[in-house]
Amino acid sequence: MEIAELAVMYGGTIVGLRDVSLSVNEGSLVAVLGSNGAGKSTLLRAISNTLPLHKGRIRKGSIRFDGKDITNARVDKVVGAGIVQVPEGRQVFSDLTVAENLRAGSVTMKGAARRKLAEEHVMDIFPILAERRGQRAGLMSGGEQQMLAIGRAMMTSPKLLMLDEPSLGLAPLVIERIGQVIRDINATGTTVLLIEQNASMALSVASDAFVLELGEVSLHGPADELAASDRIRELYLGKGGDDSSATAALRSDDRVHLSRWTA
Ligand code: ATP
Repeated sequence: MEIAELAVMYGGTIVGLRDVSLSVNEGSLVAVLGSNGAGKSTLLRAISNTLPLHKGRIRKGSIRFDGKDITNARVDKVVGAGIVQVPEGRQVFSDLTVAENLRAGSVTMKGAARRKLAEEHVMDIFPILAERRGQRAGLMSGGEQQMLAIGRAMMTSPKLLMLDEPSLGLAPLVIERIGQVIRDINATGTTVLLIEQNASMALSVASDAFVLELGEVSLHGPADELAASDRIRELYLGKGGDDSSATAALRSDDRVHLSRWTA
């Protein structure tokens, strides 16, 4: 996917994104980091073309996927192109069982045999979902619901899986497990775009990462190099400062120390 010079506005005056360019190569696992209000959700909304639901619109720029221009493409076209999003906050159907939730993810797929195969594939990735197939989703833990939300998205065998803060509200051990699952999904051939505030998890699983700050890309580079940088560790990996101080500091001359990364 190639995003070029993307600018997004909300309600005509509020800037969601300004001039964002980023690429997600086929087969890669790319993380987008940033603090509250940085523009992470806006980026996903622009790709999935759900901005109009939030009174937002693309002001300029383009989004290309798999050789096609999908800027402002209808949601069904985006899904048809193989892009699926796991929304923030999981949003599983709590009154439905695990199996019913998974089937809801494959309603657009033709052929009962294909749907069954997809379900078995997802149960292979998430044995917990196989164990709980008859259980109501609302009775599962937050981590299990996140697995279910990811599993439901995987039912259509997407080319690009987009995850919006999958670690939100989960305990460290559960976050680690979710990270492993994301890595496994990527290892079996699905390209992943991972939006996270949890830089530690995201940088440990991603190949490349972009840092969004006030609607702009402030840094990007290989995830391991970003994670190893003292400055990023200090700012984003819990060695002092919260995310807002991180944002402020990244705006300073720290960028000069990160010569391999381009803004
Ligand atoms: P968070 O992690 O808090 O969700 P984020 O990085 O996803 O933050 P966005 O929600 O994309 O950030 O917000 C980017 C900017 O756009 C912010 O200034 C935000 O206030 C603004 N914004 C987001 N959604 C709307 C909306 N529906 N209407 C008006 N402004 C919005």
